[in-house]
Amino acid sequence: MGRKKQELWVRLMVLLTNGGRCVYCDYAESQVIDHVIPLKANGEDSWENLVPACEACNLGKSDKGLFAWVAELTYRDSASASGARPHGTNGLDWMREQLECAFDDVQARLVGVKAELDDEGRRNWFFDRHWHLSKNAEIWLWRGWADTDAAEARMNGYPKLPPPPPPPRMRITRAHLGQVLEPIPSDEAS
Ligand SMILES: [Zn+2]
Repeated sequence: MGRKKQELWVRLMVLLTNGGRCVYCDYAESQVIDHVIPLKANGEDSWENLVPACEACNLGKSDKGLFAWVAELTYRDSASASGARPHGTNGLDWMREQLECAFDDVQARLVGVKAELDDEGRRNWFFDRHWHLSKNAEIWLWRGWADTDAAEARMNGYPKLPPPPPPPRMRITRAHLGQVLEPIPSDEAS
C-alpha cells in the first residue's frame, strides 16, 4: 500500500487542526501532514489517520511509532531542564511521570484533532473552498488564506462560503542576505 499525495484541501484541513500547531510538540506551526499510525504499521493513508506536524517532529518520529517519539521528545526536554530532575530512583520515577504526562497531553491533542476532522461541517467547508486546487499548488500560499478564513468560519460554525480570492503571485528575489519572496504587483504582466 503506497503513500499517495493527499489533495491540497485535505492537507489544509488537517494542517489547520490543533490551532495550526504541530500535534506532537504543540509549539511549532504545522508544516506537514503525518500518519499517526505509520503506513509501515498498516496505518491508513486517509484523513482519519492524518495529523498536523512540524517538519522536525515528522522527521524525528519517522516510522518509530507514537510512544517512542513522545518518549524521545520528553527525554530531550528533561535533559535541557536537568536542574529539575531528582537523582537516583526518584529520578526514574520523576522521568516516568514526565513521560506519562507528555503522553497524556499528546493523546488529548490527538483526540482533539480527530474531533475536528470528524466534524462534517468543517470538512465540507474546506472542500467547498479548496477542492479545485491542484495537489501541487503552493501550500504555504494557500495556508495563509485558509488560516484567516478558517478562524472566521470556525466562529460561525464553518458555513458554506464563496471561494476565496486567488492568492497573490509571488516571486523569488535576491535580497541582501539570501533569497526572499515578494508579491508580484497585480498590474505587472507575468
Ligand atoms: Zn513538532
